[in-house]
Amino acid sequence: MTYDFDFFVIGAGSGGVRAARMAAAKGVKVAVAEDRYFGGTCVNVGCVPKKLFVYGSHFSEDFELAESYGWDVSVQKLDWDRLRDNKTEEIKRLNRVYVNLLEKSGVKIFNGKASFVDANTVAIGDQTFTAKHILIATGSWPSIPDFPGKEHVIDSNQFFYLKKLPKRAIVVGGGYIALEFAGILNGLGVETHVFYRGELFLRHFDDDVRRFFRDEMIKKGVNVHFESTIESVKKDNGQFIATTSKGDFETDLIIYATGRMPLTDGLNLEAVGVNTKPNGAIKVNEYYQTSVPSIYALGDVIGHIQLTPVALAEGMALVKTLFSGEPSTVDYDLIPTAVFTQPNIATVGLTEAQARELHGDDLLIYRSAFKPMKYSLGGSEEKTLMKLLVCKSNDVVLGVHMVGPEAGEIIQGLAVALKCGATKAQFDSTIGIHPTSAEEFVTMREPVKE
Ligand code: FAD
Ligand code: NDP
Repeated sequence: MTYDFDFFVIGAGSGGVRAARMAAAKGVKVAVAEDRYFGGTCVNVGCVPKKLFVYGSHFSEDFELAESYGWDVSVQKLDWDRLRDNKTEEIKRLNRVYVNLLEKSGVKIFNGKASFVDANTVAIGDQTFTAKHILIATGSWPSIPDFPGKEHVIDSNQFFYLKKLPKRAIVVGGGYIALEFAGILNGLGVETHVFYRGELFLRHFDDDVRRFFRDEMIKKGVNVHFESTIESVKKDNGQFIATTSKGDFETDLIIYATGRMPLTDGLNLEAVGVNTKPNGAIKVNEYYQTSVPSIYALGDVIGHIQLTPVALAEGMALVKTLFSGEPSTVDYDLIPTAVFTQPNIATVGLTEAQARELHGDDLLIYRSAFKPMKYSLGGSEEKTLMKLLVCKSNDVVLGVHMVGPEAGEIIQGLAVALKCGATKAQFDSTIGIHPTSAEEFVTMREPVKE
C-alpha cells in the first residue's frame, strides 16, 4: 500500500520536532502537524521563558552583591513589560527557528489540530493524510483541581503573559513549577506565598536537599505554608481572597502549579483503539508503540518522565527503531535533573532514602554545606549543599545532589561520571578546579557519622 507520508508526527514540541527532523535526515517522507506553537511547551511556556525569567529575577540579588564588591548601584525599578516583551520576542524568534529547521530538513508542515480517522489516517480540518507510521507527541497540559472560585486562578501558561506584575502572589504546589515560579516572583520583588499540601515540598528529592532548600527559600523571603490547601477563592475589588486551611489570605494573583496531564483532547484515540491509562497517558511498549501497531507515542503524553531531554531521547530512539532497523529504547537510569529555583537544585542518581532501601547499611554519605566564595564579602547569606552517596562495599557513587548556584551546570558533568560507573576513589583522584564550588565534589574525604 502507498501512503502520503512514511511518518506523520502530531505535535511540533520537543519530542515531535526531534523525531521529525531525524527521520527526514534519513530520507524518510515526513509531515508534522502543530496547532498552537512551534517548539512546544519547552520553547513557548516552559524551559526557555522560565529560564529567562529566572535570569531576570536574579538581578535583585546581584545588585545587592555588587555593592559588597564596591559598586554603588542605584536601581530604580523593574520594568515588567520590558522583561515580558523581550522574552516574548525571543520566543517568536525561536518559533521561526523551529519552522526553518523543519522546512530545511524537508519536513512538510501543517498548521492545525490533527485527529485520527483510522490507524493510518490523520485529519486536519477537512483534509486527510495517510501515513505508514504516526507519532503522537502532543505533550501535556496544566492540571488544576476543582474548587469554588477556580476560574479566578491562573496556570503556568498564563504566568508568562501577565499584563501586570502583582504586588502579592500565592503559588500553589510543591514541585518544579511552583518553586521555580516562587523564586522568580520573589526575585522580582513580589510578596510571594507558597502553599503546599504536604509536610515538605519536592517529594521525590533527597530529604537533605528538601530541608536545605526550604531553609534557603525562607531566608530569601518567600513565605512558605506547609500542610496548607486552598478551599475556595473569591474575587473582591480587583483582588482575591483565598480561603485556606490556615485562614483567609488576600492576594493579587493565584497561580496553580499542581502537575500536568497528558494532552490527548480531540485526537479521537478511542475510535482507533489507542489504549490509555486512567490518567489519560497513552500506553506504549518499550519501543513507544501503542496498542495500535502503526501508532507511536512519546514525551509528556506517555506520562512517564516530563523533561525535554527525555522527550528528545525518546524521539531519537523511535527514529532508530523505525528507520534504521535498530530497535531502540531510552535508558532511564541516572537521568540528571535540575530545578531552577534560587538557589538551583540539581541531582543525579539515588536519594538517600532510595539508597538505604536498596543498600541498607552498605552506604557512605558525604555531605558538605558552605557559603560560596562569591558571597564572602557580604551581600548574601545563601549557602550551598553538596551530597554524595556511595556504596560502601564496591565504592560506586550512587547519587550526587546539590543546592547552590549553577547546580545544573555542575551536575550535568557528574552525570557522565555516574553513567560510567564512577567510584568514590575515582572522584578522589580527580584534580579539582580551584577555586570553584564544584571542586568540593572531589575533595569530600570524611563520610558523615550517622
Ligand atoms: P510538548 O513540547 O508540549 O509539545 C507538544 C506539541 O503538540 C505542542 O506544541 C502542542 O501545541 C502540540 N499539539 C497538541 N495536540 C495537538 C494536536 N491534536 N494537533 C497538532 N498539534 C498538537 N523540562 C526540562 O527538561 N527542563 C526545564 O527547565 C523545564 N521547564 C519547564 C517549565 C514549565 C513551566 C513547564 C510547563 C514545563 C517545563 N519542562 C522542562 C517540561 C518540558 O517542557 C516538557 O517535558 C517537554 O516540552 C515535553 O515535550 P513533548 O514533545 O512531549 O511535548
Ligand atoms: P510536579 O509533579 O513537579 O509537582 C506538582 C505539585 O503539585 C506537587 O507538589 C504535588 O504535591 C502538588 N499537587 C498535585 N495535585 C495537587 C492538588 N490536587 N492539590 C494541591 N497540590 C497538588 O508538577 P509541576 O506542575 O510542577 O511540573 C510538571 C512537570 O514538568 C514536572 O514534574 C517536571 O517533569 C516538568 N518540569 C521540569 C522542570 C525542570 O526540569 N526544571 C521545570 C518545570 C517543570 P505532592 O508532591 O504532594 O503530590
